Amino acid sequence: MIYGPIPPHVDPRKLADRSISLAGELQLSEFSRACELLTSDAGVVHAELVFSRDEQQVAVMQLKLESEVRMICQRCLDEAVIAVSGDYTYAIVVPGTDELHFPQGYDVLEVGEEPLDLLALVEDELLLALPIVPMHPPEECQQPAGLLESESSENAVKRSNPFSVLAQLKRDPNV
Ligand SMILES: [Zn+2]
Repeated sequence: MIYGPIPPHVDPRKLADRSISLAGELQLSEFSRACELLTSDAGVVHAELVFSRDEQQVAVMQLKLESEVRMICQRCLDEAVIAVSGDYTYAIVVPGTDELHFPQGYDVLEVGEEPLDLLALVEDELLLALPIVPMHPPEECQQPAGLLESESSENAVKRSNPFSVLAQLKRDPNV
């Protein structure tokens, strides 16, 4: 395993031929799309990449991600630290490969002449790994259980207000 900066672009086939393993950290602030969903762009994503050839000589890239991000807890609306992680195994195929010929048991990445944009891939996976409804673990959350429901019913009452005002106007003969 080579520890150091993760290169933004790689040639996965060459790295697979040499059985290279890389480990390093990427700054969260580099991932602007992901940061739009976070309350802070401070922090890092730990990434591990293992390149190899399988028995069929398919170039394989394993990717492990680990990070802690800050998002708004949807229960108490306070900031929560959310652990995110992912473990992926891709087969590298040439663009236009027929799906029927995709190597079995892998996610598939199409990589042609251009090097693989590792940062974009890591960001895509990070986005998918973020919780849709971020929340503190129950023991850390400030909001008593059950308040979420009463809040939403309050909102429902507020939403209905314009209509009841309208109804009142219609009933009022002076308007
Ligand atoms: Zn909370």
